[in-house]
Amino acid sequence: MKYADAHCHSNPIEGLGAREIARRFKKHGGWFIALVSLPPYHYGYTEPSIESYRKMIELLLSEAKNIREEGLEVRVLAGFHPAEVDEYFRRGVSLEKIYELAVKVFDLITSYHEKGLIDGIGEVGRQHYSTAPQRLVLSELIMIKALEYAKDHDMIVHLHLEQGGWTTVRSIEELIKLSGISKDKVFLHHVDYETSKWAETLGFWYTIPAKHRMLKKTLSEKHRRRVLVESDFIDDPRRPGVSSYPWDIPLRINELINEGVIEESYVEKIMTDYVRKAYLL
Ligand SMILES: [Zn+2]
Ligand SMILES: [Zn+2]
Repeated sequence: MKYADAHCHSNPIEGLGAREIARRFKKHGGWFIALVSLPPYHYGYTEPSIESYRKMIELLLSEAKNIREEGLEVRVLAGFHPAEVDEYFRRGVSLEKIYELAVKVFDLITSYHEKGLIDGIGEVGRQHYSTAPQRLVLSELIMIKALEYAKDHDMIVHLHLEQGGWTTVRSIEELIKLSGISKDKVFLHHVDYETSKWAETLGFWYTIPAKHRMLKKTLSEKHRRRVLVESDFIDDPRRPGVSSYPWDIPLRINELINEGVIEESYVEKIMTDYVRKAYLL
């Protein structure tokens, strides 16, 4: 069986880095990773400036190269995470300045995309935790801008959202109309069961975390056509329990196949056919 990780981060400064991640994942059958940027300050680029994002993207590209050199396929996304809104606000940057920075970052991402180096924007979206209402609205404005850039330049987008089931997915269905981007390009990442159900119904790609209960519940329903599996690994040794490892995907799935709850042929389809279709591989 071959396995794909539909949303993963790497941090060569603090953590294992992409080469080691790719090696370990490959040993467990890994063939594909969608590599998503972390906020620049996770890599030590603490200045809230476009230069920090340039450094972040350069690092991301070298990480993607390492994955390719280990023989895996990779898609690369760089973004402006809603947590960045809160972080810069806390440091005294005004909401308008944060918005201006985000737009510059999307310009930068687009210039890399035009050189064929970046495939999409991610993560952008809304905070999944409580924050000041105006910061939530700002994050949404930034997301709408990202969807416009993605539509205009034919990029995919990974959305980080609250897990609000119908409300979350319906709101995205409305918001994507502003840009006219196709649903095929929009991925709802780290969804819970209820949100995954609506993402499936309304026709978005979505990534479910590689947790036993979630995989069991979702993948035992064999009718799903938009489901992908992610580790959302953040490669931060100081926060080991926050997400899964990419190799947890094969480990958890094999357990479930052995338990007889999910079907091998169906999972194989998700890990290859769906991934190829979603990421245009
Ligand atoms: Zn996220
Ligand atoms: Zn993530």
